[in-house]
Amino acid sequence: MIPFRDTYRDIPLYSPAKKPCRVDLSDNTNLFGAPPSADRVLREEGFLKLSRYPAGYAPDLKRAVARYAGVAVENVTTGCGSDDVIDCALRAFLEPGDVVAFPDPTFVMVPMFARLSALKPVPVPLRAGSDLDVEGLLATGAKLIYVCTPNNPTGTVASRASLERLVDQARGVVLIDQAYVEFARGGDFLDLARTRPNVLVTRTMSKAFGLAGLRVGWGVGAPSLVAEVEKARGPYKHTTLGEAVAVSALTEDVAWMEACAAEAVENRERLRGGLKALGLEPLPSEGNFLLVPVPEAWRVGEALRERNVNVRVFEGLTGVGDALRIGCGPWPLMASALKALKEVL
Ligand code: PMP
Repeated sequence: MIPFRDTYRDIPLYSPAKKPCRVDLSDNTNLFGAPPSADRVLREEGFLKLSRYPAGYAPDLKRAVARYAGVAVENVTTGCGSDDVIDCALRAFLEPGDVVAFPDPTFVMVPMFARLSALKPVPVPLRAGSDLDVEGLLATGAKLIYVCTPNNPTGTVASRASLERLVDQARGVVLIDQAYVEFARGGDFLDLARTRPNVLVTRTMSKAFGLAGLRVGWGVGAPSLVAEVEKARGPYKHTTLGEAVAVSALTEDVAWMEACAAEAVENRERLRGGLKALGLEPLPSEGNFLLVPVPEAWRVGEALRERNVNVRVFEGLTGVGDALRIGCGPWPLMASALKALKEVL
């Protein structure tokens, strides 16, 4: 018998139900496509640079992120998606057995990453109205508290007052995951990452920036904090091409990204109207998706997939119950989802 790791015995692979569907609204990516400059960079630089390693610790990408985020290069870390930045932060700041606290429901990978590093995940239910239970989170005594705002899968946001109180009183790091901030009205917490010693804000190129396939994410925090995450990350987390395209997108395609995000938000609210007309009550959302409580969501999700529409199914979410999460993008895709839902419900 090979002595595998005890803590890994019951850890499943991440596997949301997925069969190829013509309309795939299951992963909150940019449904308008990839940024225009990506095409040029891939054609011009694609082949030439493949035989050598990229520069260690992604200096070009860090410079582009620093310019975009209005911070110094020393404030920036990057990773293979923001998944990786989160995973590295857990490894960097916590010892096996330490507690990671997070509002529940939230991004499903966080308890998974915690268990992968032999940490103890402690969920704290979101309060009715979906703001943070600051006292509950603090009472866990966690050395790292994770907060996602806008939150996946609810779409709801944490108030600034709650988040500042949490940051002021936490005994360790507060990791603020802002994977969906480009879709939100305000609620950008980069200022906390710039001014507080214990805040790491993570962001991604996978959602509004349309580059999920390249796996590029980044984090901003105090230089001393970021330096620890860089240790956990190691030198070569990006491909040469991923780094080059992310740099061009952050430099040349911000207006394109903002236009896509604005249209996704407009269509999200139009979709909300359509769902309400079907008798459904989506949660308020500041992301590019709606969470819609639906009894027997699993059955509904299957029936939608049979009609070539894939949405993300959640069962028994704390405070919500069964629900579907529907990603928002071009209106014809939303119309297909509404039509299929109407047939299924
Ligand atoms: N955070 C949140 C809240 C997410 O929803 C996701 C993607 N589903 C991620 C982080 C990770 O995204 P990526 O690794 O592609 O940056």
